[in-house]
Amino acid sequence: MTIGILKEPKEESRVALLPEAVKTLLSWNAQVIIETDAGLLAFANNESYKAVGATIKSRMEVLAEADMICSIQPISQEEISKMKPEAILLGQMGALFNPELTKFLLKEKRTAFSMELVPRTTRAQSMDVLSSMATVTGYKSVLLAASSLPRFFPMFMTAAGSITPAKVLILGAGVAGLQAIATAKRLGASVFAFDVRQAAKEEVLSLGAKFVDVEGAKEDKGAGGYAVEQSAEFIQKQKDTIHEYAAKSDVIITTAQIPGRKAPLLVEERTVLAMKPGSVIIDLAASSGGNCALTQADQTVEINGVKIIGVGNIASELPQDASKMYGKNYLNFLKLIIKDGEINLNFEDDIVKGTCVCHNGEAVNSRISEMLT
Ligand code: NAD
Repeated sequence: MTIGILKEPKEESRVALLPEAVKTLLSWNAQVIIETDAGLLAFANNESYKAVGATIKSRMEVLAEADMICSIQPISQEEISKMKPEAILLGQMGALFNPELTKFLLKEKRTAFSMELVPRTTRAQSMDVLSSMATVTGYKSVLLAASSLPRFFPMFMTAAGSITPAKVLILGAGVAGLQAIATAKRLGASVFAFDVRQAAKEEVLSLGAKFVDVEGAKEDKGAGGYAVEQSAEFIQKQKDTIHEYAAKSDVIITTAQIPGRKAPLLVEERTVLAMKPGSVIIDLAASSGGNCALTQADQTVEINGVKIIGVGNIASELPQDASKMYGKNYLNFLKLIIKDGEINLNFEDDIVKGTCVCHNGEAVNSRISEMLT
């Protein structure tokens, strides 16, 4: 079996598998072909892939020869048509939000797996790219905030006077939020955090941050640890509390998401206008609508001296470790579908079934078939 690794589009610096992960694949008796310069932006050159035993080929050769194509970003329909009919496509296709691509894959009777569909269960944790990339995003968002802020993060007592620590407010203490809290604490900021899940409170406190309580949040034990949509009354109470804290904050990092829905609007325009000039808002929910009313996805806007950064693919800005984590997640998933160097798909396995977009012209995953009806 031959596994092909593609070079990502130019705005993406990560690569699906670094040489160290390719070495593991080769030890499973697979052949690995790499598109020329696929790992260059993640600091893995062609020589480093060759050194572990992979072969470098052109994009067209990789597409035409591989039995499985691995990428991060989705590839075009035209390129999918160049793959062998039975070859498997593996990537992060955003299949639930990309019906056009999903319908094409079904029509072409392709077999495709999309990593963001990996069930968020304990057994699947080691394959969960959403969690690994949220870790990168949470960390990097704090560095971005620190470099955009016209103030220090830590406290200083110097001969030139004392500097008070920056106040950082984190909205949403899930995987990205907790990493942002930990990073902001390491930089010496005074950190406050908020989440609708009570389970998050203990985690926030264990990182040494203060938890902002707003009573009356709705929770659902059946939501698999995720937040559920809140009532209009609760959201208003929440916006008022955030308004009060925002005026005292130097940085707000927003990470609040509800799976499959538009991100909740938590920071209103009046709240931005009440913030101190020089303050920074980093909106990590920008691509799903934003947690701040004035966020523009993939752009930085400045209002009354307050910078609002609508963060896009920030994980791509830490390409070496992000690719390393991505590759580890990939290998753990590939272990489920490769046996003795050959592809072996067992749809009785909830992870294989849950991650599959389609196989033999059918949507294997119920979330995909629901999305298409
Ligand atoms: P996410 O990206 O969907 O959401 C980020 C955070 O926003 C969550 O903590 C959520 O509670 C919060 N949020 C949503 N609406 C909000 C609102 N109105 N106000 C404030 N906060 C709001 O979630 P995530 O970070 O991917 O994961 C959340 C939790 O899911 C984790 O902390 C963990 O408990 C669980 N999880 C489990 C697994 C696993 O078992 N494999 C994997 C990932 C996550």
